[in-house]
Amino acid sequence: MKRYFCVFVLLMLFLLTACKDDSLSVTSDGESVAASDLAAAGCVHEPVNDPRVEPTCTEPGQTEGTHCALCGEVLSGHTEIPAAGHMPETAERQEPTCTAPGFVGEVRCTVCGEVLEEEQTLPVLGHTTENGRCTRCGQYIGGVWETRYYVDQFDQPTEDWYISCRAVGKFSNSATVDDELEAQVLADSTGDITFFLYEYGSYQVKNHSSGDWQEYVVTMRSAAGDLRMTGAMYAGGDRIFLDAVYVPSVLEALRGEGTVMFHIVPVEAYVTETEYLFSVEASNFADEYGRMTGADV
Ligand SMILES: [Zn+2]
Ligand SMILES: [Zn+2]
Ligand SMILES: [Zn+2]
Repeated sequence: MKRYFCVFVLLMLFLLTACKDDSLSVTSDGESVAASDLAAAGCVHEPVNDPRVEPTCTEPGQTEGTHCALCGEVLSGHTEIPAAGHMPETAERQEPTCTAPGFVGEVRCTVCGEVLEEEQTLPVLGHTTENGRCTRCGQYIGGVWETRYYVDQFDQPTEDWYISCRAVGKFSNSATVDDELEAQVLADSTGDITFFLYEYGSYQVKNHSSGDWQEYVVTMRSAAGDLRMTGAMYAGGDRIFLDAVYVPSVLEALRGEGTVMFHIVPVEAYVTETEYLFSVEASNFADEYGRMTGADV
C-alpha cells in the first residue's frame, strides 16, 4: 500500500512539473519523455495563438488557430489552405512567316516568378507556291515560265516572243551583303538569252555609260555541272545579253529538269565585290519553248 502511494505522489509531481516544461520532462527513473506522451498523460494545455499562414503557389497554408505551448497539440483552427497554384502570365507570341521564324516567349508565374515554360521557336513556314506566287504572302517565287510578246513603239504586241521566268535571289556589293534580288531570265524568238536584275527587288541594274559595254561573267550551275560564260550589258542598256556561243548550253539546261542557278559578276566588280545569285526551276520551260519553236521537247 505504501508503494502505491509513492507511485501516486511521484505521478502528481511529475504532472505538475511536466505542464511547466514545454517540451521534455524527466521521469522518476531519469529517462526523457516526448511532449506528445504528455498529452496522452493528460496535459493541462496552455493555448498559444498562431497567425494565419498564407499558401504559396506550391505550398499549402493554414488558417489561424491555437496550439498548446507545452505539448504542441493543435487545440483549434489550423485548417489547411490548399496551395494556390501558379498564375502563368500570357506569353509573348510572334507568329512565323514564310521567311522568318516566330517564337513563344518564356512563361513565368506572375506571383512567384518561377519559369513555367521555356521560350520556344516556331519554325519558318516556307512559301507555298501556286503558279509561281506564294498563296500565303503573295510574294512572287518564280518557277513558272510564261510566253509574252515584245511590243512595238505603239505599245502593240509584235511577232517577237519571249519566254520568261522571274526569280528571287540575293546580291552583294560594297554597300550590302546578301540583300534581296529579283531577276528575270528571258529566252526569245531571236535566239537571245537575257537577264534582268533588280537590286532590293526594285532598283533595276542598268549600264549608265553612254559608250562602254559592261561585261559580265555568268556562271551557270545545272545538273550537267558548272559552266563559266560571259555576257554584256550594252551602253545605256538594262539587260545582260549572254554571249551567243553559250545560248545552246543554257537552253539545254532549262529544257532539262530541276534547278538552274546563275551567279553573275560584273567583270570590273572583281574590285567592287558586286555579285548576283539566283536560281530558276526548269519546270515548264521545255513545254513553252517547244510550243513556240515547234522543236521536240
Ligand atoms: Zn498541452
Ligand atoms: Zn507561382
Ligand atoms: Zn510566302
